[in-house]
Amino acid sequence: DTIVLSDLAKRMGIKAGEMIARLMSNGVMVTVNQTIDFDTATLVAAEFGYEVEKAAFEEETILHTAQPDDPENLSHRPPVVTIMGHVDHGKTSLLDVIRKSRVTAGEAGGITQHIGAYLVSTDKGHIAFLDTPGHEAFSAMRSRGAHITDIVILVVAADDGVMPQTVEAINHAKAAKVPVIVAVNKMDKPDADPDRVQRQLAEIGVTPEAWGGDTIFVHVSAKQETGIDELMEMILLQAEVLELKANPDKLASGHVVEAKLDSGRGPVATVLVKEGTLKTGDPVVCGVHHGKVRALIDDRGRKVDQAGPSHPVELIGLSGVPMAGDEMVALKDEKDAKQVGQHRFQKQRAKELAKTSRLSLDKLYERMQEGEVKELNVIIKADVDGSMEAIRDSLVKLSNEEVAINVMHAATGTITESDISLAAVSEAIIIGFNVRPNPKVQDMANEENVDIRYHNIIYNVIKEIKDAIVGLMKSTF
Ligand code: GDP
Repeated sequence: DTIVLSDLAKRMGIKAGEMIARLMSNGVMVTVNQTIDFDTATLVAAEFGYEVEKAAFEEETILHTAQPDDPENLSHRPPVVTIMGHVDHGKTSLLDVIRKSRVTAGEAGGITQHIGAYLVSTDKGHIAFLDTPGHEAFSAMRSRGAHITDIVILVVAADDGVMPQTVEAINHAKAAKVPVIVAVNKMDKPDADPDRVQRQLAEIGVTPEAWGGDTIFVHVSAKQETGIDELMEMILLQAEVLELKANPDKLASGHVVEAKLDSGRGPVATVLVKEGTLKTGDPVVCGVHHGKVRALIDDRGRKVDQAGPSHPVELIGLSGVPMAGDEMVALKDEKDAKQVGQHRFQKQRAKELAKTSRLSLDKLYERMQEGEVKELNVIIKADVDGSMEAIRDSLVKLSNEEVAINVMHAATGTITESDISLAAVSEAIIIGFNVRPNPKVQDMANEENVDIRYHNIIYNVIKEIKDAIVGLMKSTF
């Protein structure tokens, strides 16, 4: 049992140099990248007031999630879908219609519970839908390490066409490498123009299959409930292509999609199982909290004994309320669950500290030299189209062998929370050209350590990035 010194220091939120000095005064000589054994780790941790628990020290070995499955134990699992799109294009309406569509005669009442996700059954298979539409929630989860969504449904109103948040949604899905199915909604409206939607999307690289691209388009009306079956069919078709599989016959792991403190039931977390099967009585760790599954409730408010892959359930029995995006893992032993929870708590602290190391332009050269960074992700927000395009074109030309410049998103308008979350999750810097964020967004940028560079002369934008790449920026600080 060994651990790399820098790792231990990071987990404890202590500078590696400080730890080396402390070890030296105890007669142990190590460098940052050397490993130390369990006893030494315990010793030095104690000096800083930490206790190293052997089990927590070996979180990776306790948790079964890292162990690969034998292909023959894998079976198909339902796809997990998130709905995105511009405001008022019908995301909520579509979610409601789909929710309703699974109410068959025998299921009067249907899905009345909003637990954060629900499962639809069609005659061709199941589909899980996340109940919080929009790309903000999607990227917030992703920035917490939760890669839950398999397929994004992009809703575009046929009468309104592609709007700014449509483009944002596409870029968030692209950054996550999640395939998109376009639902052209409001087909019932007299001024619906689905061809225009196709043209507009094709222009920004989302090309329909009919035009030689690989994106599926479906015409729907949430209001008249048309095209819904076809949409479900297309989701399952796409899922088949993705070959979504999981092993249901092992301890469960998954993610929290929603959590709350219920006055009657205590902490309640809706979890979406990714693999394995979660059962009543299982010891679990959920983010930094632990417990034993006291009850599982499905999306129709029914008590169930177990939940398999892609099945959302409310989990009752945790010691505290986890956060959306937290990882949930079932374990054999309740003691292990507690230790992993505590270990995670320490890791979380270390992560808070590590946030300060998020990419900033003045550290770019340094990090390139260390081989840590080979590309620079950029988000451009400008007051007018012309400037936005001029900056984008010039930046793309700056790419060289050492660093590739990727423009993740470019748009006109002020810097928004969505820009910050995309920047945070993809380690991008933001260029604000003649635009300023509101104080709330600026606070979020500070909190997430996202580097925003403000300019009003295009030449200066280009010069600043160029200087950062060749390491000249330092002289200006
Ligand atoms: P969201 O902001 O994307 O969640 O959009 P909503 O689902 O709240 O819908 C916005 C508005 O569009 C509401 O007034 C809906 O009734 C209306 N709407 C949604 N889908 C359709 C549709 O297919 N046809 C028509 N005519 N109206 C729709």
